[in-house]
Amino acid sequence: MASIFSKIAAGEIPSYKVAEDEKHYAFLDINPVAKGHTLVIPKREVDYIFDLSADEYAELQKFAQKVAIAMKKVIPCVKVGEAVLGLEVPHAHIHLIPITKESDMNFFKEKLTLSDDEMANIAASINGVFEK
Ligand code: AMP
Repeated sequence: MASIFSKIAAGEIPSYKVAEDEKHYAFLDINPVAKGHTLVIPKREVDYIFDLSADEYAELQKFAQKVAIAMKKVIPCVKVGEAVLGLEVPHAHIHLIPITKESDMNFFKEKLTLSDDEMANIAASINGVFEK
């Protein structure tokens, strides 16, 4: 059965799409730890990120870099941090999180509640400056 993230990449489950290319998809995390918290996935479904081939892993990181560059342009932050956890959803994904201090990367703090409009606007603004 396809993972929830495969269904998102296929458009079968709605998401706040940030960017896409042939092999990758980026969308807002539905429970963001910071405004603009984005997930980047390979469309090919692999659970553990380090099981990707070396080429697939490099391509995923290259795509994530482009997404992070776009995020930094429109989300006020000092840097975009990157994290890999993957204990919840068994489809490899990179968390990209705009940060101004280390505690902004804290996955245990209460998540932000943003309106549908806010989420859609954030995704559209990142997408608007994303360069393939
Ligand atoms: P982890 O597997 O531990 O890296 O966590 C999975 C992440 O996916 C969490 O931050 C969730 O909030 C996020 N997530 C789960 N389902 C969705 C969804 N349908 N849309 C966007 N983000 C999701």
